[in-house]
Amino acid sequence: MKPALSLVIPVYNEEAHIATSITTVRRILDAANISHQFILVDDGSRDGTWAALQSLAITMTGIRAYKLSRNFGKEAALCAGLEQVDTDLALVMDSDLQHPPELIPAMVAKMQEGYDVVEGIKSDRGHEGQMYKLGARAFYSSFMRLTGFDLRDASDFKLMNRRVINAWRQLPERDTFFRGMAAWVGFKRYAMPFQVARRVEGVSKWSPVKLSRLFISAISSFSSLPLQIITILGAIFFFSSLLLAIWTLYMKFAGTALSGFTTVILLQLIIGSAIMFGLGTIGLYLARIYDEIKARPRYLIEQSAASTVSTPGTASPIF
Ligand code: UDP
Ligand code: MG
Repeated sequence: MKPALSLVIPVYNEEAHIATSITTVRRILDAANISHQFILVDDGSRDGTWAALQSLAITMTGIRAYKLSRNFGKEAALCAGLEQVDTDLALVMDSDLQHPPELIPAMVAKMQEGYDVVEGIKSDRGHEGQMYKLGARAFYSSFMRLTGFDLRDASDFKLMNRRVINAWRQLPERDTFFRGMAAWVGFKRYAMPFQVARRVEGVSKWSPVKLSRLFISAISSFSSLPLQIITILGAIFFFSSLLLAIWTLYMKFAGTALSGFTTVILLQLIIGSAIMFGLGTIGLYLARIYDEIKARPRYLIEQSAASTVSTPGTASPIF
């Protein structure tokens, strides 16, 4: 008997609490009679996470674990998990219980009202630092302005049905941004607010470098507006240079043309930096094209483990 729901969970260096976190989620789902399986993706952890996942697969039912060959990043780990989904419903959530598992039964119930996606919306960004909150706000407002997709308070806590997963699978890009792609596919969506809980243990696995990489990849994979901004910038420079040319020629013929050294230096600096900024932006997109055209796999699976009994016997399916 196939379970109804797959829980896709990326796991990176979460050895200390992963077993208790999984047990907590299971208890809630069993109480709600939702037949389910866990698809746990170890994103190349350097601690004992993989050993912990393997022993989970031995001691518990309904566990499927995959170990990526190195740290590919959360986005790639999510892809790895979602591609393994063989159930009618899939829920993506974090392993640190910041996405409250108590909400899952309500999300599943919403789904039965005919929605295709039930997405968790952060009603409160929880205990993030001021700098992080500011950065997140700047990111989402520029993302919305550039791409037209409003991802403010969006999270990766999403329940999707088969239709949406299949649609998502058709997106071929190598460099993925799950939150954006899940919005892009559309379908009938329900927004469910939730409070971001405190991390059960440890610290956030996102370094500033990783976050800025995600920022650049998210923007450049959803919008080519930065490229058009270069053209607009060029147009502005062109028209101001016309004005300046008229003025310079007038000064020349009037015989008062020697001053203006500061203007020349300033113009050189401004135009020079504008050109470099423009080239850099073109380079960014070129690099993306290069990465996509190489068509390397999004991730590599080194090892996998699965419970021998793949369906929990206790819960009867609700579908
Ligand atoms: N994660 C991952 N690979 C990474 C970084 C994070 O698979 O390179 C996982 C991590 O184990 C957790 C989820 O992504 O399940 C969210 O990470 P974290 O809690 O560190 O991020 P935050 O909650 O601060 O956004
Ligand atoms: Mg977290």
